[in-house]
Amino acid sequence: MKTLKFAVLPGDGIGPEVMDVALDVLKVVGTKFDFALDYESADIGGIAIDNHGTAFPESTRKVCEDSAAILFGSVGGPKWESLPPKEQPERAALLPIRKAFSLYANVRPGLLYPQLTDASPLKKERIPDGIDIVCIRELTGGIYFGQPKATTTLENGEEQAIDTMVYKTSEIERIAQVAIDTARARGKRVCSVDKANVLETSVLWRRVVTEYFAKHAPEIELSHMYVDNAAMQLARDPNQFDVLFTENMFGDILSDAMGVICGSLGMLASASLGATQNSLGFPFGLYEPSGGTAPDIAGQGIANPCAQILSAALMLRYSFGQLEAAAAIEAAVEKTVTSGTRTGDIAFGLQPVDTKTMGTTILKNL
Ligand code: NAD
Repeated sequence: MKTLKFAVLPGDGIGPEVMDVALDVLKVVGTKFDFALDYESADIGGIAIDNHGTAFPESTRKVCEDSAAILFGSVGGPKWESLPPKEQPERAALLPIRKAFSLYANVRPGLLYPQLTDASPLKKERIPDGIDIVCIRELTGGIYFGQPKATTTLENGEEQAIDTMVYKTSEIERIAQVAIDTARARGKRVCSVDKANVLETSVLWRRVVTEYFAKHAPEIELSHMYVDNAAMQLARDPNQFDVLFTENMFGDILSDAMGVICGSLGMLASASLGATQNSLGFPFGLYEPSGGTAPDIAGQGIANPCAQILSAALMLRYSFGQLEAAAAIEAAVEKTVTSGTRTGDIAFGLQPVDTKTMGTTILKNL
């Protein structure tokens, strides 16, 4: 029997509530598919600030380094919002952990089951068969990390802030390969999104992507789109996309737009894959729900656990090669939410779910 060793970082708000359910699901799936779990939990985000004085403590980094993957909840909340921006959980935990493990590829499925189209803000006739796209976002380059990044005071006393957008050929090529791999397993179409009419980084991005696809994946249909148009097209006709592929900041914005049209943040999982391989020969990765800590409903037992459970499925697929187990979880979630159990989150005007009941139903449907 194989043992899957991973770090569990529940974080803040609803993080621990939905993580408990995801771990229950993983345990049951393990018995069905003949693997054992060996996981260690550690603090990250606000709880880590409270317990260790920093959002990403050394002890947590060590737990992650000793693991083959990280199952992550979410971080942040009102309690820590008055801290200086650099010390706040999202900036002091999420960006450093991505950098520490070179998590350069964010894979975010945008999935809305046809039975749930009324949960989407889009008109039903635009998405009669639901939504099924994947957003591939570069995660460790671009304007979030480029230097110089600073706020200075000019001689006349006014302040000036600067962020720098930087990309190298090698950074673009390695994320292009993730887009290719993703498209090969799906509809074999990639739309690369940039702003090549204005930005130098985008001119390079478009040229490198075009050359890389021509050389390594001529069978994949590659198209290019400016980011402003891509935002419009997502709202107009999302299923024109198969794989939506873009740099860091554009991906941050577009993947949230994709999230909202999919009806519920509580349903959307994501994988952030690293440049290194784990001891099993699969990519080291961090797996987390697309939403945040939902402070408005935390502690009430009404958070939708599906995004966390589907994140665990992505972990099984990408970092442990457990394809059948991952598919079984995804099927159980689909069966559960399409057979009457509401998927809602309050922000979308839907009925809240009972976290534990939903977990139990998913376990029954496994
Ligand atoms: P949010 O995603 O936490 O919440 C937005 C809305 O969606 C809320 O109404 C919430 O109740 C609902 N929601 C989200 N997930 C849900 C779920 N699983 N089930 C039911 N409803 C759900 O975004 P926000 O309110 O902007 O941010 C709250 C905190 O989370 C902030 O501190 C923010 O910095 C942090 N955050 C963290 C991450 C992360 O850790 N990756 C991502 C986004 C936001």
